[in-house]
Amino acid sequence: MANPTLLILAGDGIGPEVMGQVKRVIGWFGDKRGLAFDVSEDLVGGAAYDAHGTPLHDDTMAKALAADAVLLGAVGGPKYDDLDFSVKPERGLLRLRKEMDLFSNLRPAQCFDALADFSSLKKDIVAGLDIMIVRELTSGVYFGEPRGIFEEGNERVGINTQRYTEGEIDRVARSAFELARRRNKKVCSMEKANVMESGILWREVVQKVRDADYPDIDLSHMYADNGAMQLVRAPKQFDVILTDNLFGDILSDCAAMLTGSLGMLPSASLGAPTDAGRPRALYEPVHGSAPDIAGQGKANPIACFLSFAMALRYSFDQGDEAARLEAAIEQVLADGARTADLMGEEGGTPISTTDMGDAILNALDASL
Ligand code: NAD
Repeated sequence: MANPTLLILAGDGIGPEVMGQVKRVIGWFGDKRGLAFDVSEDLVGGAAYDAHGTPLHDDTMAKALAADAVLLGAVGGPKYDDLDFSVKPERGLLRLRKEMDLFSNLRPAQCFDALADFSSLKKDIVAGLDIMIVRELTSGVYFGEPRGIFEEGNERVGINTQRYTEGEIDRVARSAFELARRRNKKVCSMEKANVMESGILWREVVQKVRDADYPDIDLSHMYADNGAMQLVRAPKQFDVILTDNLFGDILSDCAAMLTGSLGMLPSASLGAPTDAGRPRALYEPVHGSAPDIAGQGKANPIACFLSFAMALRYSFDQGDEAARLEAAIEQVLADGARTADLMGEEGGTPISTTDMGDAILNALDASL
């Protein structure tokens, strides 16, 4: 059987630095675990603009649509701040998300024990935390019509429309239930059905999908404002949280900060299954191109490693190998290895991006 294909788009700033370490890890799984990928690389963001005058070349878009999974670093930087909106680096990323129709955004909030002190919450509330937020990404109030600023009498009115079709709710609900089946089979769906009709429809459709096709999943519903409170009060009560675009935007950032540094946060954006049975998929760290530390060997590559672990689990059905990589990261952190962003108040000497790559490869070797 042909190897699965992986398209790497390292992008700008620290993107190529962290991706350089991920390529070593991908190579390790090929050499040591017989998990070979056909890896190709291309440009996105400012790097693509420099080469082609566009933040995403059509050929790259075609490669992304054909790949089994896309792994992206980061885009953007001050060099591109004055470019016209239509060719800004971020447009490359938005085009990928749009044309791959990535409607389901997965943001884990996972707290490594060694970093529990980094959270703004008490250690016992976050230690061992492992939850996943599934946010609908391509519809809702950020896209609904009518939208705009209009004249009304002698004043202006700003309008955005929360709009969801049954089909849009159905497909993202399925994505959350499929995910929950690989975890603890628990989904909490969040909306505001008490004050929004779109929330009433959301609740109905999510329940219908569960009853028809996912009876093994324990589904609960919660108003999103209560969800926000519960996330900071007792986040470990959740496994998978399913929510819409607007609430997901806020709740996923809130959950992310339960765990500390930006350099630790991966994400996945999934679309409909292709003929190969895998969802279209883009994996990327949550952080940006970090121009303030780019080129200095200071970047933490762990968010990008964890993004690859998500690819192993959700695109390639290699949950055990994903867990192996996550355990290696946990071990290295427990041993005290820290890039500069993870230096706490106790001080110490930070290690470089490459040193962190070395440490994780050593821990992977030790796992054999
Ligand atoms: P940023 O995430 O790049 O950086 C915020 C802060 O976190 C910086 O101090 C940075 O040094 C630090 N940081 C981020 N990632 C880190 C890592 N892996 N290791 C260590 N420290 C890390 O956000 P920003 O400064 O607001 O944006 C910089 C550029 O990135 C902008 O051009 C922005 O548009 C772009 N951006 C891109 C994405 C993306 O590609 N998905 C996301 C956010 C921002």
